[in-house]
Amino acid sequence: MTTTTSQKAVLPCTACGTLNRVDLARADAHPKCGTCRVPLTLDAPVVLTDANFDAVIRHSTVPVIVDFYADWCGPCKMMAPVFADFAKRQVGRALVAKVDTDRNPGVASRFAIRSIPTIAVLRDGKEVGRQVGAVPMGRLEELISAR
Ligand SMILES: [Zn+2]
Repeated sequence: MTTTTSQKAVLPCTACGTLNRVDLARADAHPKCGTCRVPLTLDAPVVLTDANFDAVIRHSTVPVIVDFYADWCGPCKMMAPVFADFAKRQVGRALVAKVDTDRNPGVASRFAIRSIPTIAVLRDGKEVGRQVGAVPMGRLEELISAR
C-alpha cells in the first residue's frame, strides 16, 4: 500500500523547548532543532505539557499516541519501558508522547483522565482510541491502528 499523506509531526526540542516541524518520512536524515541545533529525539516518547500540547497536536499529521502518567504510579512505571520501546518501533510512523498528569492538570482535565496510566490515540486532533491501565506492546499496536 502506498501513501501520499504527509508525515508531519511537531517535536519540542529537549534542550531549548522550541517546537520543530519534522517530516517523519525523512527521520533517517537526523533532524536537528532549528534554534539550538541539538539533534531532535525521534525514538523516545516526546514530553508534552499544558504549554505545548495544542501546538504539537494541531500541527502533527501523523497519529499521536499519548501516555498519561504520574511519577508515583506503580503501573505507570511498569508501562514506561514498554512505551519507550513502542516509541522506537514507531519512528517515522507516529508521534509517541507522554504527559505527566500532576504537572499538566490542564491537559489531564480536558481529557478527563481519572485513572493512570491512560493511553489515548489522536488523529487530526481528535481522540479515536483510549485504553486505561498498563497494556502490552500488542495492545499499543492495535490502538495506533485505530481509526
Ligand atoms: Zn533546541
